[in-house]
Amino acid sequence: MNNKLPNLQDMMRQLVAVPSVSSVQPAHDQSNHAVSELLAGWLEPLGFSIEIRPVPGLAGKYNLVARSAPGDDGLVLSGHTDTVPFDANRWTRDPFAGEVQDGRLYGLGSADMKSFLAVAAHAAARVDLEKLARPLVIVGTADEESGMGGARALVDEGEPLGSRMVIGEPTALRPVTRHKGVLLERIRIDGRSGHASDPAAGLNAIDGAMVVIGALHALIDGLAEQFPGAAFPVPGPTLNIGAIRGGDNPNRICAGCELDVDLRLVPGMRCAETRAALRAAVSRALEGSGFELGFTALFDGIDPLAPGAHKDLAEACEHATGHACGAVNFGTEGPLFQQLDMDVVVCGPGDIAVAHQPDESIALTQAYRAVDVMEQVIRHFCSQAG
Ligand SMILES: [Zn+2]
Repeated sequence: MNNKLPNLQDMMRQLVAVPSVSSVQPAHDQSNHAVSELLAGWLEPLGFSIEIRPVPGLAGKYNLVARSAPGDDGLVLSGHTDTVPFDANRWTRDPFAGEVQDGRLYGLGSADMKSFLAVAAHAAARVDLEKLARPLVIVGTADEESGMGGARALVDEGEPLGSRMVIGEPTALRPVTRHKGVLLERIRIDGRSGHASDPAAGLNAIDGAMVVIGALHALIDGLAEQFPGAAFPVPGPTLNIGAIRGGDNPNRICAGCELDVDLRLVPGMRCAETRAALRAAVSRALEGSGFELGFTALFDGIDPLAPGAHKDLAEACEHATGHACGAVNFGTEGPLFQQLDMDVVVCGPGDIAVAHQPDESIALTQAYRAVDVMEQVIRHFCSQAG
């Protein structure tokens, strides 16, 4: 196929073999530098100029930006270089071996989403970069799996990357132009303890939590009416109270209670405004009750992804894959990158259902097909001036 790169399967195996776990627990968190170096080593001989930039405030984390030429009207193929942590006891194979069996390559990050990085390099190797009318840019982000710090840093830097972007998250090569957003919030309610024999002697935080729960349900019902989000398999915004913690003994008035909430957003909603609305609704519900309230963002959030202003990238991906654009429930860095004035389509090999699971794997045929798809998309965009 070409003599500048190892074969695709071998590159996938090498990427999987280099650990690059992102974790909010420092003991499990690893650098992604070696993955960036590996990629750089493949892309440079193809004619890309490479930058590996440290992510400010995140030690050991690096974004890779590889450009075929200068310019801000190019096509960007983007993937994250990190993985989630893994549970060694539950894997029946070595998560870093990249073993192949029955046409599937097994390993941590094989589907989500190291294979796409190898796919992007192979697709790039099939075109003559010097002859492209618009630049081809390959981006490898850091820290997607914990806080999206890599993509946030690229947005903060504000340097245009291109005008269109494909994020190769595992969609089984079905193009996606819509996904939900998510925010995670902890609500802390503090009252006063006292003897259970006289409930009025204290202020029961569990009673306060019940009022808060009522307010949360009213909030999400109102949002669902305002933002139907009918394109999604689970329509509209949703709210889940995933944890409640409070109290100790039945004979003591509970002084403190915490609720952990997951709120999913649909296009039209933004995390910052929705979080502010949540805090306001909860504060209003307990106004004058004597409870003290505290709010912690457990996860700042990902905004929902909505189709961009131009249809051309979505149409090119539909044409190349044979599938119409759809909606998914998982989040990506797409809404962040849209802040850099790019239309974003999510489309990559592999199945999200096996991601973040023991024995994660990807069908090799799908990875090979992804190279054909990305080659078509590159030729479509980069062979003509914008
Ligand atoms: Zn991913």
